[in-house]
Amino acid sequence: MTEPLYAGVELGGTKCICILASGPDQVLATAKVDTTDPETTMAGIAAVLAEWNVGTRAQALGIGSFGPLELDPTAPDYGRIVRTPKPGWSDTDVAGRLGAATGLPVMLDTDVAGAALAEARWGAAQGLSTHAYVTVGTGIGVGIVAGGQTVRGLGHPEAGHLRIARMPGDNWPGNCPYHGDCVEGLAAGPAIEARAGCHAATLGPDDAVWTGVVHAVAMLLHNIVLTTAPQRILLGGGVPTKQPQLIPQIRTALVESLGGYAQAGRIADDIAQFVAAPALGDMAGPLGAIALAALAIRDGVA
Ligand code: ADP
Ligand code: ZN
Repeated sequence: MTEPLYAGVELGGTKCICILASGPDQVLATAKVDTTDPETTMAGIAAVLAEWNVGTRAQALGIGSFGPLELDPTAPDYGRIVRTPKPGWSDTDVAGRLGAATGLPVMLDTDVAGAALAEARWGAAQGLSTHAYVTVGTGIGVGIVAGGQTVRGLGHPEAGHLRIARMPGDNWPGNCPYHGDCVEGLAAGPAIEARAGCHAATLGPDDAVWTGVVHAVAMLLHNIVLTTAPQRILLGGGVPTKQPQLIPQIRTALVESLGGYAQAGRIADDIAQFVAAPALGDMAGPLGAIALAALAIRDGVA
């Protein structure tokens, strides 16, 4: 049976990827549009989708976007980017604009929620009903799939901004403009660089700065385990990908932090599979948009 064709857009902080595909083995087209001001960017995306004639060829449009997003269908600003620190982008009506441009049903969610869905469908979380996708890069994003559906309600989870127990003896204030020492303020790339005073790529694998990063990310995973009961956590993004020595350290710190409670024994027995690398790499975002489009048809969201 031929898989239905979907259109997708990954809306990122520096670039957007448009895609026309059924899945990873049937990608008909991709195109990049630079993220500049909202008007130019949305017009550029709409032009690519029009050129591909997605309104007649695709069944639905999925959008995985940077946020924060309003995802409550009863809210007046549903489908918009809301109160983002990214200059000029607050109140951009992403879903409405691209839905009107294509005439397709639209499913909008965060880029990480889309990536989590794509990993469940085609990547490293296949066969699971509930899992988390964590990316530690320019920010810390967490996409959660529970029972096959992305978690959304009043907006969407923002678990990268959880407040955590600090590492004993560490008083560095963190650099999140909203919370200071939330996980993102302690362990995202810019926090690491602010703390170390140099580019992260110049730091050796044994640099002292990594101790605090391991602690903060392990605390994040501890809280994800206890709030969402994931069957697996996929850990990706520029920081763990370029510093792979951190991954076993984060696994060890997570098991220690869980303290043997609840499912900790099963997690410890299988820790290398429980905290695992994503499988889709750079395609997780674009394929996430395709997985969201498929949900628009499955769940009948227009
Ligand atoms: P984005 O989050 O924008 O999608 P990435 O996931 O690639 O991008 O993450 C970018 C971050 O990765 C940067 O903030 C940078 O600090 C960090 N980074 C880049 N190179 C390294 C490195 N060699 N070691 C650790 N961190 C790095
Ligand atoms: Zn924060």
